[in-house]
Amino acid sequence: MTTISPVGRPLRPRGKLLQEDTRRHHRSLLLQQLFREGPASRADLARSTGLTRVTTSDLIGELMADGLVEELGAPAGSRVGKPPMLVGLAADSTHIVGIDLSNDDRMTGAVINLLGQVQARAEVTIDGASGQAAVDKVHRLAADLIALTDRPVLGIGVGSPGVVDATGTVIDAPNLVWADTPLSASLARAFDLPVFVANDANTAVLGEHTFGETGTGGLMVLRVGTGVGAGLVLEGSLLHGHRGAAGEIGHVVVDPDGELCACSRTGCLETILAVPRLRRRLAESEDAEEVLTRVGEQLGAALAPVVGTLNLQELVLSGPQELLDGSLREAVDRSIRSRTMPVSSEGLVVRASTLGEDVVLVGAAVLVLSGQLGVS
Ligand SMILES: [Zn+2]
Repeated sequence: MTTISPVGRPLRPRGKLLQEDTRRHHRSLLLQQLFREGPASRADLARSTGLTRVTTSDLIGELMADGLVEELGAPAGSRVGKPPMLVGLAADSTHIVGIDLSNDDRMTGAVINLLGQVQARAEVTIDGASGQAAVDKVHRLAADLIALTDRPVLGIGVGSPGVVDATGTVIDAPNLVWADTPLSASLARAFDLPVFVANDANTAVLGEHTFGETGTGGLMVLRVGTGVGAGLVLEGSLLHGHRGAAGEIGHVVVDPDGELCACSRTGCLETILAVPRLRRRLAESEDAEEVLTRVGEQLGAALAPVVGTLNLQELVLSGPQELLDGSLREAVDRSIRSRTMPVSSEGLVVRASTLGEDVVLVGAAVLVLSGQLGVS
């Protein structure tokens, strides 16, 4: 029997776990603790994870042998008896390759350590490439990034536009002309590494949730780029939706008399907010502030029902800051508050990403951390 959690992935089966699964789970618990709380003694780790001291010491030995964990010495100020030895994550023992495909003109990538810190960068211009030619560019970027590190590579994470299934196949990404494109499988075959591909907005919200300065309430990251999409983390889990398309707010109609959208409907949120459309509208207008305020009000009207329904704590607007910061964000904030009950909006924070434009890259690293080490 499998229990389905209220949101997110199914919980672990309740049946008897195989010994190897138990061991892997216990390793993940220890890594998660070190990842979240920083260095600790073996005794503290046993207490906080609920594992026995013998099991804890045994697994820490194994993680040290794997190079993922290292001894850091005794904490300053310990005086009585034998001081406890602290252990912590070996941040640069292994590196992660993160790739962001959400920009319209270039593909960006980074080598990232276990603490989510960017160690090196590379990028390739898209130059109108689509279909297999665009896949080839992703492969070239991955090869360039792998060549930039002398550490073992834990895996490759990719944030891609469009709808991506659980196997890392891009079901539909119109801008790159990808349909049922098995991006994850082709990268895994080419580089013999674990590969994780997810939608760019979902990748962004994982980056913000894990490495940004977020609270514990619901978090929504709205990615504004060539398209518009959202990622949601609720009660600690990424929201997938029943067809894997949760967060596809970009094609919700906000103005039935508006412009034609790429999806063939009229007046989708994307037609007012996507970066190319918004820039064009600003170029055509003499009053930029008025345009940004009006778009912010429309966006707030579209988001208010979501904020009211989910009682979100944080709404992050991610994209070009010269467009999103200022009048637009203020109008979103005001509009949501005027359209929801105080209990829904009192604690709400509407802000920019603390990770800036790296949010998808760092999120791509989280895909690998989660998939390979069970931490997030
Ligand atoms: Zn549309």
